[in-house]
Amino acid sequence: MEALIALLGLGSGGLINMLADCMPFNRRLAFPHCPTCTAPRPLAAWFGIGALFARAWRCPYCGTPRLWRVPLVEAVTTVGAIWLYRRDPTPISFWPDGLVLAFFILIVVIDIEHRLILHIITGPAALVFGLIGVLKPDQEFGMILLGGLTGFGLVLVLYLLGCVFAHLLARLRGKVLEEVAFGFGDVTLAGVLGLIVGFYGVLVALFLGILVAGLFSLVYLLFMLLRRRYQAFLPIAYGPFLVLGASIVYFGGRTAIESIFPYGLIWLLGVLIVYFVGRDAFERLKGSQGFVNPE
Ligand SMILES: [Zn+2]
Repeated sequence: MEALIALLGLGSGGLINMLADCMPFNRRLAFPHCPTCTAPRPLAAWFGIGALFARAWRCPYCGTPRLWRVPLVEAVTTVGAIWLYRRDPTPISFWPDGLVLAFFILIVVIDIEHRLILHIITGPAALVFGLIGVLKPDQEFGMILLGGLTGFGLVLVLYLLGCVFAHLLARLRGKVLEEVAFGFGDVTLAGVLGLIVGFYGVLVALFLGILVAGLFSLVYLLFMLLRRRYQAFLPIAYGPFLVLGASIVYFGGRTAIESIFPYGLIWLLGVLIVYFVGRDAFERLKGSQGFVNPE
């Protein structure tokens, strides 16, 4: 049975790769083809793992190699399917959890590669997540809806604050920020995630997502400083972090939340303080030494 589940996971990974290859460009599913020369892929190369073993890694016409994302996604969905099945093989939890995992991976891949959160993906995800919420015995429809609205509303506030901040900065410094921290895609994404993790869940998920994003940008800043390439307000894609927060809540369950949350606020404050102090220090250093910006 587990071999079947693994095949199912591999198949869904192949589908996710197909969608991630074509949705950002033409918003509909197309057969696997080379993005450079649009030649259709040979059957052996439909899956990244197949392409690796059949020596079809490069396009036979133009030589463009596949992305490493392709076999990576297949590996994650295969292992993920087995993990979900071992955790709870009953259809009422295996199938919905598998669908949620597939949507999560697709959203993350497209956001990382294109900085895009597509309505054509979040729309169906909202429908499916809402339906799953209604079907699960421990959820109420009102709380599901409230979760969606809360996620949407909270990130909308952050988005608007980001806009105000960008405006203020533009006035003070006379330069315009090209990108604000949260895009509107993140607002809809947070709403969709709220539908699957519920009202309390979305509070924890957003909190965790923003915390990890803060830690990530801190590490990134340090790395750039060490390489003497520093750029203030480098926008990072928040979508993957929001999905990560929702994954911890959805797949980790109550124990994961309770073990993280008591110290959560302290962590958040600590990270925020270190982040802003650190960034301020970088700004000063940059001003005094005249860091060279490679662009
Ligand atoms: Zn090609």
